[in-house]
Amino acid sequence: MTNKLLVENRDCGDCVVCCIELTIEDPDLVKLPGVPCEHLLKKGGCSIYETRPQTCKNWYCMWRFMPLLDDSWRPDIKGVLVKRVFDNIPAGYEGKIALAFEIIGNKSVIHDMDFIEVVGGYIVQGFPCFLSFGKPKFVSRMVLLNEKLMPAIEGRNLPEIKKLLSSALKSCAKHPSVRLMKSNGKVITLNPTMKK
Ligand code: SF4
Ligand code: SF4
Repeated sequence: MTNKLLVENRDCGDCVVCCIELTIEDPDLVKLPGVPCEHLLKKGGCSIYETRPQTCKNWYCMWRFMPLLDDSWRPDIKGVLVKRVFDNIPAGYEGKIALAFEIIGNKSVIHDMDFIEVVGGYIVQGFPCFLSFGKPKFVSRMVLLNEKLMPAIEGRNLPEIKKLLSSALKSCAKHPSVRLMKSNGKVITLNPTMKK
């Protein structure tokens, strides 16, 4: 998305979530997910800001683009990183902006009414919404929420919505995940491992 679409008068402030959570594979920086970037200062901020890699210059989380997500949705405050998803968009959702709600803080956020209303709202509008969770240095798992949640959303069945969100998060957490490592300037995958 073009930077012209960034929400006006909104900036990252003290948030450094993307400098920790993202996988970065750039000619100038290779970084594993869930691991603070080597250039991230202890007090926050980037030690090479002016010459930071192009990937860093181009990337913004969806909180920076979506006015509907209020200030409480800044990733370090909400504990949720909302990312745009470009790959593996399921059939039927072509042309729609796909969103991943990656849980990076307290998992109980998935039962907050604010979280449910935002995710439910996007699902009703037909945007593919994924719940996502991952451990440091592992590929995050993602579960599509739309078909699972839609009947409960239409029926305004809050206990069922919460139950389904819990189940989706458990599924992300226990699914076999793929370990990542850096090798020769690239991020490569190791064999899948089962969570014990
Ligand atoms: S995660 Fe979003 S708000 Fe936080 S530093 Fe990155 S772009 Fe800014
Ligand atoms: S180079 Fe700077 S902006 Fe890029 S991830 Fe590292 S600390 Fe963040």
